[in-house]
Amino acid sequence: MNTRKRLHALRREASPAAVTSPEVAATPDHPAYVIGSGEMREHALVDRDLNQLLFDYERTVRLRFARIVDVLKRISAHQHDENFIELAQQLAREQLGFDLPTQVLEDAWVCGLDLSTLHSRCIFSSLKLSVDNAQTEQIGWRQRLPLDENFLRSCGYHTVDISPCSDGRLQGVGAYALRFLPGPNVRVKGYAGALFNVEANMSDWAEREVKRLSGAMVDGDRLNFLKIAVYHFSSSSPDNHGCAAHNSNDNQATQAALQRLYELRAAIERTFGAGAGPDILLIGVDTDLDALRIHLPDGFGELSAHRYFETAQIYRDTLGLSPEAARTHIAETVAKGMGGGGQGSGRMHEGMRRLVLALAEANLSQIEYVIEHHTGRYATIGHDEQYIIAGEKLRPLQLRNLFYLAHLNTMEEGAPDMDVGIDIFTKLNAAHGLPVPVLVHFEYDARVPKSRERAIARGRRVRDAIEARYPVLAARGLLNCAIAVSERGGEERCTFIADDAVDGH
Ligand SMILES: [Zn+2]
Repeated sequence: MNTRKRLHALRREASPAAVTSPEVAATPDHPAYVIGSGEMREHALVDRDLNQLLFDYERTVRLRFARIVDVLKRISAHQHDENFIELAQQLAREQLGFDLPTQVLEDAWVCGLDLSTLHSRCIFSSLKLSVDNAQTEQIGWRQRLPLDENFLRSCGYHTVDISPCSDGRLQGVGAYALRFLPGPNVRVKGYAGALFNVEANMSDWAEREVKRLSGAMVDGDRLNFLKIAVYHFSSSSPDNHGCAAHNSNDNQATQAALQRLYELRAAIERTFGAGAGPDILLIGVDTDLDALRIHLPDGFGELSAHRYFETAQIYRDTLGLSPEAARTHIAETVAKGMGGGGQGSGRMHEGMRRLVLALAEANLSQIEYVIEHHTGRYATIGHDEQYIIAGEKLRPLQLRNLFYLAHLNTMEEGAPDMDVGIDIFTKLNAAHGLPVPVLVHFEYDARVPKSRERAIARGRRVRDAIEARYPVLAARGLLNCAIAVSERGGEERCTFIADDAVDGH
């Protein structure tokens, strides 16, 4: 079946509720594909080759994790066999691509195979394999992502710093929903409810500002820093699958993220003078569809919770149009959103407008990605993460629902984010007797003396604090922490620190 036919079929195969209820289909919040369900039309602005590359990558990584339970069940069935260890290692090597810890296999004869320990170790080893292979596995789509460093510079930005929610459904948002090319100038730091830490973000801004002012950035004098907060909601289950940190209340999630952006800008301007602050942008993601709600800054860079446009609507309105006509429609929608009605003063500056148009266009490809590869709406609209990362994101990993990210330096500060994550995994894992795998990960700077040692020490402190905060889970063996460090911008990536969960790394 060719792409056109497949898309057409997918649109017709919409879930029964979606197809049979005209009332639902007419709702603007409803999955994007429903509106296109009549006549077969194709979207002219979608990059299908890029979508295929992103999907190949998604499938490769997901398979790595999806096989674990099945392989462990098969291994478990052989635990009383004569040549058990040999057989188990062979199965693990063939099916998972790594060895299992020999000690756990050797101890199996005493009180049975410790499957919960093995499960966590397999999760950590699969994660490590995904990091090690990232460069080769991502090379195709990295070369095609439209919002790359050059494009961002043309919009007037040297750095884009994105804070989505820590929720796993937002952890692929940079490369997939927003189509930013990950790199040193595009940073993603997740915080529960997108409520990023103002002081930490101020210091990240200052670090880039020092670099810019020292002349280390080409064209630095005309470039600015952009901070984006990304909140989320669920169009098909707004009361249950929205943002847990805001009790699934969309309005609260929007207002709180907006407030945090203003706080950061105020903090910088009060400290370094009016006009010093970064540009700010607020984006909402419908995690069922990966469609965006882009809030439009006015001429003074001011945002509003109510001044936005939605890319799902753009997708429906521009389906079947020529690329030129579709682009004109997007530009008109943005211009209209900015116009009259007391909705802000003046027009946003040209660089921001360019970026907003590009984000909208790039997201149309992601909407079709979900239509083509996930039947129009993700099968699992809720949580389905494999592990928690506490500390700093593993930069090479980008995928929806692969992990929950609690960005933190200390547990004292990061406790609320961690609590949300543990709550999610209590339902996902612990309720089924599976431990919660937590990777405590920090980056170090090789140019800074003893930075690596301090990253490891911080990792151990955070690990101990996590175990102390959730004593019931820890005592029941339902919390498995590992510590790893990576060199910022360097070769060492996700090295597990000995005396922790993964042997041999
Ligand atoms: Zn959230």
